[in-house]
Amino acid sequence: MHDWLIVGAGFAGAVLAERIASQRGETVLLIDRRDHVGGNAYDHVNADGLLVHRYGPHIFHTNSDHILSYLSAFTAWRPYEHRVLAAVAGKLLPMPINLDTINLLYGLNLTSPQLEAFFLGRAEPVTEIRTSEDVVVSQIRRELYELFFRDYTRKQWGLDPSQLDKSVTARVPVRCDRDNRYFTDKHQCMPRDGFTTLFRRMLAHPNIEVRCGMDYRELLRTGCNWRRLIYTGRIDDFFDRRFGILPYRSLAFEHATLDQPQLQPVAVVNYPQYEPYTRITEYKHLTGQRHRKTSITTEFPCASGDPYYPIPRPENRMLYRKYEELADTRKDVYFVGRLATYQYYNMDQIVGQALATFRRIQDGDGRAIDKALLAAE
Ligand code: FAD
Ligand code: UDP
Repeated sequence: MHDWLIVGAGFAGAVLAERIASQRGETVLLIDRRDHVGGNAYDHVNADGLLVHRYGPHIFHTNSDHILSYLSAFTAWRPYEHRVLAAVAGKLLPMPINLDTINLLYGLNLTSPQLEAFFLGRAEPVTEIRTSEDVVVSQIRRELYELFFRDYTRKQWGLDPSQLDKSVTARVPVRCDRDNRYFTDKHQCMPRDGFTTLFRRMLAHPNIEVRCGMDYRELLRTGCNWRRLIYTGRIDDFFDRRFGILPYRSLAFEHATLDQPQLQPVAVVNYPQYEPYTRITEYKHLTGQRHRKTSITTEFPCASGDPYYPIPRPENRMLYRKYEELADTRKDVYFVGRLATYQYYNMDQIVGQALATFRRIQDGDGRAIDKALLAAE
């Protein structure tokens, strides 16, 4: 009998396992259906000795001192500011769009105030910004939207930006200065020894038992016992998809190692046009590793496969609300993480969500009820 069962060993599950084991002294069984911990942030050393990310590039950034300080107990950090180039019109141009992007694209020599005027003069007035198209065309001329955003988004999501919530393309700003960093967060860094090492340190507590390659449904059949449950898998799966399937966008990753020291000038090159893939990542830029070879991953968006991206559309949010209402009636289960709350969250937001859940557990909210007690009711 464990005090807790936690389903899913990504950031949501691992943070909660660590907190519960170390702060409450209770026992945790942490399971994951994959053969490793780390969830989508999992990284590993490949056959050529290069540290790579199995599920696409994961770059840590946060504005929260608290979240950084919490994770720093389990890792040292390598300073890293992410920079991305977009392959457009036969050139590699800074993305997010900034002063250099426009000057290089059009062979101009604009200043920042001139660029502001250039953007303002050509943007389209949008009374209510609702969609991912609105966000961009209200800031920059349509031609730039088409070059940098429209087809990338169509590939990535299988939907036109006009069919997607504004929050998607709003992740990428438009700038009039020369700042070419992808993120502007206060803290930008990579775990020095990789994400998986961070997870292993987090989970190296005698109160935590980790079982990989174990699905929740399979565990239910073994008769294994626990008192409280934290679930970080898909919420629609948990409830047998009774209201229908919550849609996700997936990716196929093509991993390769090249017999050359470097492929591209930055970690990520985006392909926002006709290519069937969206981006190529070269890991050495993220890890700082020196090696005579280099490893890369190319991302091909697709409809089926692992559930990577919840699709932000009003009808999906409404469907999620039905599951959320049902979840609220389950006083014995906490639903945490990207899949269980159907939100397009970054890693730091998930760590924040897990730490907030732990505070609720400590405060003794209604969900911290023994299964045994529930059964007795
Ligand atoms: P996950 O990491 O998905 O972990 C959930 C785990 O639950 C999985 O390992 C799964 O196998 C397991 N599971 C599910 N169902 C069951 C079941 N029934 N039984 C057993 N186990 C189960 N964030 C950033 O901050 N920076 C980035 O650069 C970044 N890049 C990203 C790139 C890609 C391609 C993707 C897809 C995401 C990226 N993210 C990034 C987001 C980041 O991956 C998530 O915020 C984070 O991993 C979510 O953690 P989680 O624990 O909620 O979910
Ligand atoms: N996007 C785009 N062109 C780009 C980069 C991003 O159109 O060159 C859009 C696209 O819709 C993408 C969204 O902006 O899904 C968010 O981009 P981000 O790089 O944050 O995506 P993630 O890393 O989460 O896949």
